[in-house]
Amino acid sequence: MRILVALLAVGLALAEKIQYRPVPKEVLKQRLELAAKDNASRLRTLELLFEHTGCKGPNLQPLPVKGSKLPNLACTLPGESPNTILVGAHYDKVRAGMGVVDNWSGASMLANLHEALSSVPRKHTLVFIGFTDEEKGLAGSRYFVAKQKKEDLARIKAAINIDSIGMGTANVWSKRSDSRLLALLEVLNGALKFDVPWINVDKVGDSDSHPFAGKKIPVIDFHSLTTETLPALHTPRDTIDAISLDHYEVTHRMLSAYLALLDLRLEVTLATPVQYENK
Ligand SMILES: [Zn+2]
Repeated sequence: MRILVALLAVGLALAEKIQYRPVPKEVLKQRLELAAKDNASRLRTLELLFEHTGCKGPNLQPLPVKGSKLPNLACTLPGESPNTILVGAHYDKVRAGMGVVDNWSGASMLANLHEALSSVPRKHTLVFIGFTDEEKGLAGSRYFVAKQKKEDLARIKAAINIDSIGMGTANVWSKRSDSRLLALLEVLNGALKFDVPWINVDKVGDSDSHPFAGKKIPVIDFHSLTTETLPALHTPRDTIDAISLDHYEVTHRMLSAYLALLDLRLEVTLATPVQYENK
C-alpha cells in the first residue's frame, strides 16, 4: 500500500511537469479538413500550418530530395541543447481517396504538436519533418537519413514517426520501436492514464521510421491500424469520415505529453536498458 501511494505521488509529480498547450478539438478538425488531393497543395498547406503555429524564417526549411518532385519540409523548434528529437510524418498520398488518414492525420499533427510544444522552453531541439514520397518506397525519409552528415545524424537522439492516426486509439508498433522509448510510453500511460495498445504492422507495410532504425537511432512508431481499420487505407474510403475526432484529440494530447516527457527524460531514458519478452 505504501508503495502504491509512493508510485501515485511519482505519477502525479510527473504529470505536473508535463507541460504543453493542447490545440482545441475544433482546430484539429479544421486542420484535418484542409487535406488536399494533390501532393503539391498538401506541401503548401503544411507550410502554411507551420507558419500559422509560429514556425517561420530560418526555422522552416524545404529540404530537396533527389528524384522527388517535392521536398521534405522541416520545422525546427530550437531548445537549450542542439541534441534533437525528430518527429516525422509523410504528407504525400496515393491516388485513391483523400489521404486524410494516410497521412494528413500525421502531417497536420506535426503543426499541432509544434504549437502544443512551443508553450514553454524545451531542453532539446525538436524537429518536425513532413516527408515526401513515403508511398514511393520511403523516398523522403531514406534520402534525409542518407544525406545527413555523420555529426548531424549523431545529434538525432530519438525519432518519432506518425502514420495514419485517428481511426481509433493510437497504437504503437512495438516490434519496430526501441524498448527504452516504449518503457517511457508506459511511464506516461501510468501517470496520465492514456492507453496505447501494442499492435505490430510489419506484415502489412513499412514506415518512415525504417531508415532511422537502420542507422541505430531509437525510434517509436505510432498509428491507428487494426484489422478493422487497415482496409480503408489507399482506397476511396480514406476521407475525413474515416477519422474519429474524439480519438484523434486524445492522440494529440498523448503525443504532446509523450514529447514533453521525452524532452524532460531523454538522457535517463536512453541510459536505462529495457528488455521485453514479447514485443
Ligand atoms: Zn502512410
